[in-house]
Amino acid sequence: MTLVGLFGLTAVLILALLGLSYFIPYYGFGRIHQSLPILMALLIGGVGLLVLVAFVLLIVVTLLGRDVPFSQKLRSLVIKLLLPVLIKVGRLVGLRKEEVQHAFVALNNELVMAQCRNGHPPQKILLLMPHCLQNHDCPVKITYRVENCKRCGKCPIKDLLELASRYGVDLAVATGGTFARRIVIETRPDLIIAVACERDLTSGIQDTTPLPVYGIFNERPFGPCFDTRVGLEHVESILREVRSLKPEGS
Ligand code: SF4
Repeated sequence: MTLVGLFGLTAVLILALLGLSYFIPYYGFGRIHQSLPILMALLIGGVGLLVLVAFVLLIVVTLLGRDVPFSQKLRSLVIKLLLPVLIKVGRLVGLRKEEVQHAFVALNNELVMAQCRNGHPPQKILLLMPHCLQNHDCPVKITYRVENCKRCGKCPIKDLLELASRYGVDLAVATGGTFARRIVIETRPDLIIAVACERDLTSGIQDTTPLPVYGIFNERPFGPCFDTRVGLEHVESILREVRSLKPEGS
Protein backbone atom coordinates (compact mmCIF):
# COMPACT_ATOMS: atom_id res chain seq x y z
CA MET A 1 0.00 0.00 0.00
CA THR A 2 1.29 3.48 -0.85
CA LEU A 3 1.65 6.30 1.62
CA VAL A 4 -1.27 8.08 -0.07
CA GLY A 5 -3.40 4.93 0.34
CA LEU A 6 -2.47 4.74 4.02
CA PHE A 7 -3.45 8.39 4.50
CA GLY A 8 -6.72 7.87 2.64
CA LEU A 9 -7.62 4.84 4.74
CA THR A 10 -6.63 6.59 8.00
CA ALA A 11 -8.74 9.63 7.05
CA VAL A 12 -11.77 7.42 6.27
CA LEU A 13 -11.42 5.58 9.60
CA ILE A 14 -11.07 8.80 11.61
CA LEU A 15 -14.09 10.34 9.85
CA ALA A 16 -16.12 7.14 10.43
CA LEU A 17 -15.24 7.25 14.15
CA LEU A 18 -16.28 10.91 14.30
CA GLY A 19 -19.58 9.99 12.61
CA LEU A 20 -20.19 7.21 15.13
CA SER A 21 -19.33 9.52 18.01
CA TYR A 22 -22.22 11.69 16.82
CA PHE A 23 -24.84 9.17 15.74
CA ILE A 24 -24.53 6.68 18.60
CA PRO A 25 -25.44 9.19 21.38
CA TYR A 26 -27.72 11.24 19.02
CA TYR A 27 -30.98 10.61 20.94
CA GLY A 28 -29.22 11.14 24.27
CA PHE A 29 -28.12 14.63 23.13
CA GLY A 30 -31.77 15.58 22.47
CA ARG A 31 -32.81 14.53 25.95
CA ILE A 32 -30.18 16.76 27.59
CA HIS A 33 -31.20 19.85 25.57
CA GLN A 34 -33.15 20.25 22.32
CA SER A 35 -30.34 22.35 20.72
CA LEU A 36 -27.56 19.93 21.69
CA PRO A 37 -27.85 17.63 18.61
CA ILE A 38 -27.30 20.57 16.24
CA LEU A 39 -24.44 21.98 18.38
CA MET A 40 -22.76 18.57 18.48
CA ALA A 41 -23.28 18.17 14.72
CA LEU A 42 -21.55 21.54 14.14
CA LEU A 43 -18.70 20.66 16.50
CA ILE A 44 -18.06 17.15 15.13
CA GLY A 45 -18.62 18.36 11.54
CA GLY A 46 -16.02 21.12 12.12
CA VAL A 47 -13.48 18.63 13.49
CA GLY A 48 -14.22 16.28 10.57
CA LEU A 49 -13.66 19.12 8.08
CA LEU A 50 -10.31 19.98 9.69
CA VAL A 51 -9.26 16.30 9.53
CA LEU A 52 -10.29 16.15 5.87
CA VAL A 53 -8.39 19.35 4.94
CA ALA A 54 -5.28 18.15 6.84
CA PHE A 55 -5.26 14.82 4.99
CA VAL A 56 -5.86 16.48 1.60
CA LEU A 57 -2.87 18.80 2.26
CA LEU A 58 -0.72 15.83 3.32
CA ILE A 59 -1.64 13.97 0.14
CA VAL A 60 -0.81 17.08 -1.95
CA VAL A 61 2.64 17.35 -0.29
CA THR A 62 3.27 13.63 -0.79
CA LEU A 63 2.27 13.64 -4.45
CA LEU A 64 3.64 17.03 -5.55
CA GLY A 65 6.44 17.75 -3.03
CA ARG A 66 5.23 21.38 -2.91
CA ASP A 67 4.78 23.56 0.09
CA VAL A 68 1.19 23.88 1.28
CA PRO A 69 -0.43 26.29 3.75
CA PHE A 70 0.34 25.47 7.39
CA SER A 71 3.09 22.97 6.41
CA GLN A 72 4.97 23.64 9.68
CA LYS A 73 1.83 23.03 11.78
CA LEU A 74 1.00 19.96 9.68
CA ARG A 75 4.45 18.55 10.36
CA SER A 76 3.98 18.96 14.12
CA LEU A 77 0.55 17.35 13.85
CA VAL A 78 1.89 14.39 11.89
CA ILE A 79 4.79 13.93 14.31
CA LYS A 80 2.82 14.28 17.54
CA LEU A 81 -0.53 12.69 16.72
CA LEU A 82 -0.56 10.87 13.43
CA LEU A 83 2.38 8.47 13.64
CA PRO A 84 0.86 6.17 16.32
CA VAL A 85 -2.45 6.15 14.39
CA LEU A 86 -0.67 5.40 11.10
CA ILE A 87 1.21 2.49 12.72
CA LYS A 88 -2.08 1.01 14.02
CA VAL A 89 -3.89 1.47 10.68
CA GLY A 90 -0.84 0.09 8.87
CA ARG A 91 -0.99 -3.02 11.08
CA LEU A 92 -4.67 -3.46 10.17
CA VAL A 93 -3.69 -3.75 6.50
CA GLY A 94 -0.65 -5.94 7.19
CA LEU A 95 2.13 -3.33 7.03
CA ARG A 96 5.16 -3.83 9.28
CA LYS A 97 6.03 -1.08 11.77
CA GLU A 98 9.26 -0.38 9.82
CA GLU A 99 7.29 0.14 6.60
CA VAL A 100 5.08 2.73 8.29
CA GLN A 101 8.17 4.37 9.84
CA HIS A 102 9.71 4.62 6.34
CA ALA A 103 6.49 6.20 5.08
CA PHE A 104 6.43 8.59 8.05
CA VAL A 105 10.04 9.71 7.47
CA ALA A 106 9.35 10.13 3.73
CA LEU A 107 6.40 12.40 4.50
CA ASN A 108 8.37 14.30 7.14
CA ASN A 109 11.17 14.84 4.59
CA GLU A 110 8.70 16.18 2.00
CA LEU A 111 7.31 18.64 4.55
CA VAL A 112 10.81 19.72 5.65
CA MET A 113 11.98 20.28 2.06
CA ALA A 114 8.71 22.06 1.19
CA GLN A 115 9.40 24.44 4.11
CA CYS A 116 13.01 24.99 2.96
CA ARG A 117 11.88 25.73 -0.62
CA ASN A 118 9.37 28.27 0.64
CA GLY A 119 11.80 31.21 0.70
CA HIS A 120 13.44 30.29 4.02
CA PRO A 121 16.48 28.17 3.18
CA PRO A 122 18.38 27.07 6.31
CA GLN A 123 21.74 28.72 6.93
CA LYS A 124 23.13 26.58 9.74
CA ILE A 125 22.97 22.89 8.92
CA LEU A 126 24.00 20.00 11.13
CA LEU A 127 24.84 16.54 9.79
CA LEU A 128 24.06 14.24 12.71
CA MET A 129 25.50 10.73 12.33
CA PRO A 130 25.22 7.59 14.44
CA HIS A 131 28.32 6.23 16.12
CA CYS A 132 27.86 2.83 14.42
CA LEU A 133 29.11 4.37 11.14
CA GLN A 134 32.64 4.40 12.56
CA ASN A 135 34.73 1.35 11.71
CA HIS A 136 34.62 -1.03 14.68
CA ASP A 137 38.45 -1.28 14.78
CA CYS A 138 39.11 2.45 14.70
CA PRO A 139 40.91 3.56 17.88
CA VAL A 140 40.18 7.27 17.37
CA LYS A 141 37.59 8.94 19.58
CA ILE A 142 35.37 10.98 17.28
CA THR A 143 32.23 11.46 19.37
CA TYR A 144 33.34 14.73 20.96
CA ARG A 145 35.54 15.93 18.09
CA VAL A 146 34.84 14.37 14.73
CA GLU A 147 37.90 16.23 13.38
CA ASN A 148 40.02 13.70 15.32
CA CYS A 149 39.31 11.28 12.44
CA LYS A 150 42.57 10.40 10.63
CA ARG A 151 40.70 10.17 7.30
CA CYS A 152 41.96 6.65 6.59
CA GLY A 153 38.82 5.90 4.54
CA LYS A 154 37.86 2.66 6.30
CA CYS A 155 34.47 4.11 7.15
CA PRO A 156 32.18 6.88 5.78
CA ILE A 157 33.35 9.46 8.37
CA LYS A 158 36.19 10.57 6.08
CA ASP A 159 33.79 11.32 3.17
CA LEU A 160 31.29 12.97 5.50
CA LEU A 161 34.02 15.32 6.78
CA GLU A 162 34.81 16.26 3.19
CA LEU A 163 31.12 16.86 2.45
CA ALA A 164 30.74 18.98 5.60
CA SER A 165 33.68 21.17 4.65
CA ARG A 166 32.60 21.46 0.97
CA TYR A 167 29.08 22.63 1.90
CA GLY A 168 30.03 24.62 5.02
CA VAL A 169 27.96 22.58 7.47
CA ASP A 170 28.59 21.09 10.93
CA LEU A 171 29.17 17.36 11.36
CA ALA A 172 28.65 15.51 14.63
CA VAL A 173 28.62 11.86 15.66
CA ALA A 174 26.28 10.87 18.49
CA THR A 175 26.31 7.76 20.62
CA GLY A 176 22.64 8.01 21.59
CA GLY A 177 19.57 10.20 21.98
CA THR A 178 20.79 12.14 25.04
CA PHE A 179 24.09 13.00 23.40
CA ALA A 180 22.32 13.91 20.14
CA ARG A 181 20.02 16.31 22.03
CA ARG A 182 23.06 17.96 23.64
CA ILE A 183 24.72 18.45 20.25
CA VAL A 184 21.53 20.01 18.87
CA ILE A 185 21.27 22.41 21.84
CA GLU A 186 24.94 23.41 21.47
CA THR A 187 24.98 23.88 17.69
CA ARG A 188 21.44 25.37 17.32
CA PRO A 189 21.01 24.41 13.66
CA ASP A 190 18.22 25.61 11.32
CA LEU A 191 18.13 22.16 9.73
CA ILE A 192 19.38 18.75 10.82
CA ILE A 193 20.17 16.04 8.32
CA ALA A 194 20.12 12.94 10.50
CA VAL A 195 21.18 9.39 9.68
CA ALA A 196 19.96 6.50 11.85
CA CYS A 197 17.95 3.28 11.96
CA GLU A 198 14.13 3.28 11.84
CA ARG A 199 13.61 3.42 15.60
CA ASP A 200 16.22 6.12 16.37
CA LEU A 201 15.31 8.28 13.39
CA THR A 202 11.59 8.22 14.16
CA SER A 203 12.09 9.01 17.85
CA GLY A 204 14.76 11.63 17.02
CA ILE A 205 12.39 13.45 14.65
CA GLN A 206 9.68 13.35 17.34
CA ASP A 207 12.05 14.58 20.07
CA THR A 208 13.38 17.57 18.14
CA THR A 209 10.10 18.88 16.76
CA PRO A 210 9.53 21.73 15.79
CA LEU A 211 13.17 21.79 14.58
CA PRO A 212 13.21 20.49 10.99
CA VAL A 213 14.98 17.12 10.67
CA TYR A 214 15.56 15.52 7.28
CA GLY A 215 15.92 11.80 7.95
CA ILE A 216 18.03 9.26 6.05
CA PHE A 217 18.08 5.58 7.03
CA ASN A 218 21.46 3.98 7.51
CA GLU A 219 22.45 0.84 5.61
CA ARG A 220 23.30 -2.25 7.67
CA PRO A 221 25.25 -4.72 5.53
CA PHE A 222 26.70 -6.41 8.67
CA GLY A 223 23.57 -6.24 10.81
CA PRO A 224 22.36 -3.54 13.21
CA CYS A 225 24.77 -1.16 14.98
CA PHE A 226 27.95 -2.57 13.38
CA ASP A 227 29.99 -0.87 10.65
CA THR A 228 26.86 0.67 9.18
CA ARG A 229 26.87 2.74 6.01
CA VAL A 230 25.14 5.80 4.61
CA GLY A 231 24.16 6.77 1.07
CA LEU A 232 26.60 9.65 0.61
CA GLU A 233 24.96 10.63 -2.70
CA HIS A 234 21.67 11.05 -0.86
CA VAL A 235 23.25 13.27 1.80
CA GLU A 236 25.04 15.32 -0.87
CA SER A 237 21.92 15.70 -3.03
CA ILE A 238 20.04 17.23 -0.08
CA LEU A 239 22.96 19.54 0.78
CA ARG A 240 23.26 20.60 -2.86
CA GLU A 241 19.56 21.38 -3.11
CA VAL A 242 19.37 23.25 0.19
CA ARG A 243 22.50 25.30 -0.59
CA SER A 244 21.09 26.24 -4.01
CA LEU A 245 17.89 27.72 -2.53
CA LYS A 246 17.57 31.47 -2.48
CA PRO A 247 16.05 33.40 0.44
CA GLU A 248 12.73 35.16 -0.18
CA GLY A 249 13.13 38.49 -2.02
CA SER A 250 16.73 37.88 -3.14
S1 SF4 B 1 37.82 7.24 8.48
FE1 SF4 B 1 38.25 8.17 10.49
S2 SF4 B 1 36.71 7.36 11.85
FE2 SF4 B 1 36.72 6.03 10.03
S3 SF4 B 1 38.12 4.37 10.56
FE3 SF4 B 1 39.34 5.94 9.52
S4 SF4 B 1 40.13 7.26 11.17
FE4 SF4 B 1 38.49 6.01 12.04
